[in-house]
Amino acid sequence: MRRIHELPKIVVDQIAAGEVIERPASVVKELVENSIDAGSGKISVYIEEGGRKSIIVSDNGSGIYPDDVGLAFRRHATSKIQSVDDLLLTRTLGFRGEALSSISSVSHVRLRSRTRDLETGVEYSVSPGQEGILTDWTGSPGTTIEVRDLFHNLPVRLKFLKSASTEQSQIQETITLLALGHPEVQFHLSVNGRTSLALSTRDDRRLRLLDLYPGLEEKDLSRAVLEGEGIRVEALVLTPEKNRKDRKYQNVFLNRRWIRHPGLLQAISQGAAGRVHKDVHPGAWIWIEMVPDKVDVNVHPTKREVRFLETDRLFSLVRRVVSEGLDSFLNGSRTDPEN
Ligand code: ADP
Ligand code: MG
Repeated sequence: MRRIHELPKIVVDQIAAGEVIERPASVVKELVENSIDAGSGKISVYIEEGGRKSIIVSDNGSGIYPDDVGLAFRRHATSKIQSVDDLLLTRTLGFRGEALSSISSVSHVRLRSRTRDLETGVEYSVSPGQEGILTDWTGSPGTTIEVRDLFHNLPVRLKFLKSASTEQSQIQETITLLALGHPEVQFHLSVNGRTSLALSTRDDRRLRLLDLYPGLEEKDLSRAVLEGEGIRVEALVLTPEKNRKDRKYQNVFLNRRWIRHPGLLQAISQGAAGRVHKDVHPGAWIWIEMVPDKVDVNVHPTKREVRFLETDRLFSLVRRVVSEGLDSFLNGSRTDPEN
C-alpha cells in the first residue's frame, strides 16, 4: 500500500486549472471578467495564434496594490468576498479566487498594474512552479496581463486544442457574450495584430447587440420588459424571419453574466410556440436581473450554470416576455425599442 502525501501546490493548481481553464477562450473570459469587476471602462484583448501563443488583456480599471499582487496569484485569494454569506450579496463576476493561480500554473504570465492613488505600479512575472519576480513599473493606471505559451507544460491539453481559427472564433464569441452583458464598457479585440472587434460605449443593449451582429437591423428586434417581486426580465426578440436552426441567437444573461440553463431555453421555446416555425430556434436575448439571494451561482467553477430558488415565476416571466415580443411582429405593432 502506498503512503498518503499532500500534493505539491503546483499540482493542486494544475488540477484546479483543469476545471477553469479549458482552452484559450477560458483565459480570455476569466481575465476580461476580472477587468469588468475592476470597474474598467475600456478593455482591450490581443491574441496571437488563437491565443495559444499569447493572450494580452489590458484595462483601465482599479489596478492592484503592489503588496497584493503576489496574493492575487494564490488560490482562493480574492478581494471580492469575505464569507459564504457574501455570495448572497455579490454582484461581481468573480469570487472564487482561482483564475490567476490556475492560469499561472499552465502558462507564463506577466502582470503590470498601477492603482490611481500611487505614482509607481508593479510588474510581476511568474512561470509554473516558480517564485514570481516583482519589480517597479510606471505606466497608466489599470492592469495588463500577458499570458504566453498556454498549456506548454500540459501536452494533453495542448493536443485537445482546435485550429487557431476555431480557438479564435471561440474567443470572439466569449467577448461577444461579455460585451452583451456590459454595453457600457468599450471592448477591443485584436487578432494577430489586426482589429477584429471594436465596440464603443453604448447606453442601450439593443445598440450593443446590433454592433455585434452586423446581419441584423433595428427593425428585426422587438423589445419587451416584464417585472415583479424582485425579478426584472428584458428581452430583445428576433423577427421570426431571421430565426436560425442553431441557438446562436438564443442567449440568457443573469445579472449581466451569460448563463447556460436548459430550463430557460425551454421557456423561450414555449413562449414562442405557435408563433414561429417548429424547425428553428426562436431568437431571443434575455437579460434577467434579480436579487442575488434567490440564485446560487456557486454551482460550477466557470459559473455558467446556476440554480434558481423559484423557477416557476421566472420561467413564466420568460415565456410571457417572448410571446409579447413576437406578437408585436405578428400583429405589425412592433414596440418602439426606445420605450
Ligand atoms: P477572483 O476574480 O475570483 O477574485 P482571480 O484569481 O480572478 O480571482 O483574481 C484574484 C484577485 O486579483 C481579484 O480578486 C482582484 O482583487 C485581483 N485582480 C485580478 N485581475 C484584476 C484586474 N484586471 N484589475 C484589478 N484587480 C484584479
Ligand atoms: Mg476572477
